[in-house]
Amino acid sequence: MRNSLYFIGLSVALASCASHQPVKKNSTKSKTPVPQVTSQVKPPTPTLPKTQIQHEGNYDFFKVNIGDISKNDNTISYGSIVSANPKGYKVVKTFFPSVAQNFRQKYIILHYTALDDDKSVTVLTQQSVSAHYLVNNLGDKEIYQLVDENKRSYHAGISAWRNDKMLNDTSIGIEIVNPGYVADASGMRIFPDFDGAQMKKVAALVKDIADRYMIPPTNILAHSDIAPTRKSDPGPKFPWKKLYDEYQIGMWYDEATKQEFYNQIIPENYAVEMSTAPFIFKYQAALKTLGYGLEPSGMVDNATKKTIEAFQFHFRPEKYDGVMDAETWSILQALNVKYPNK
Ligand SMILES: [Zn+2]
Repeated sequence: MRNSLYFIGLSVALASCASHQPVKKNSTKSKTPVPQVTSQVKPPTPTLPKTQIQHEGNYDFFKVNIGDISKNDNTISYGSIVSANPKGYKVVKTFFPSVAQNFRQKYIILHYTALDDDKSVTVLTQQSVSAHYLVNNLGDKEIYQLVDENKRSYHAGISAWRNDKMLNDTSIGIEIVNPGYVADASGMRIFPDFDGAQMKKVAALVKDIADRYMIPPTNILAHSDIAPTRKSDPGPKFPWKKLYDEYQIGMWYDEATKQEFYNQIIPENYAVEMSTAPFIFKYQAALKTLGYGLEPSGMVDNATKKTIEAFQFHFRPEKYDGVMDAETWSILQALNVKYPNK
């Protein structure tokens, strides 16, 4: 039915285009007879395939990817379809989905709850914060979904990464049950380890989401990356390197590149240079290039310290003092070499 309507519409459009052509009036008799059109012009065959839709329960799912997957900008892949249901009319979605579309889900943001399992469920379902998924610490095979992936959950708050702000709009939030840090007598924060079985769950979940929405490694981030002045979760014990090495999840630097940068640094000179305004400006700009929402000023303010600390939580977890030491600076440069086009 839809096919024939489409062809009729196209024919009308072609006819109306033709009517704009100036009409030549024949004042004299034509010597050559005008050829008679005997066959109808065939409308072009649409090139897009009919979308495969699978019905499961009350929901429809696209089953094919009609876009160019190398572009990450025009995809329909396996995902639920939400449609209007206007009274007295029928929404038809089985023909000609537009290639000009992309996903709203651009980021995956990882958190810890700083609560136990039960309290995590209560807070994330009954209060003003939420996440799409909650990964428990019970050693079972379950992951709780609290919010539909097509809706916003309230997990990121005031946040920024590259040109994006308020990342609730564009992200999937994953909360991981973990008690969070405790401060010792000297104020030093002690972060607890993440459970191994729980991390396997996190890895499988992140991989599934990243694959379906084609979320690049540079957009899989910690809450502290996108809100460094406010947040420190999931903290320095979160195994980013392990996830990168074993599951190809997220960003990590190449050791050789880091070592090259490190070898160029002369410790005595660096100790002097690191507190000069031009160098502070330079590393602030490098943090911003990687994605952090930091404006270079040439001055070490609280935002700068907290941003360096967030960077260290993620990429240099052995020491997170908010100081741009030679090791941290080498890692930062190596990351910007490895991920230039974000
Ligand atoms: Zn968080």
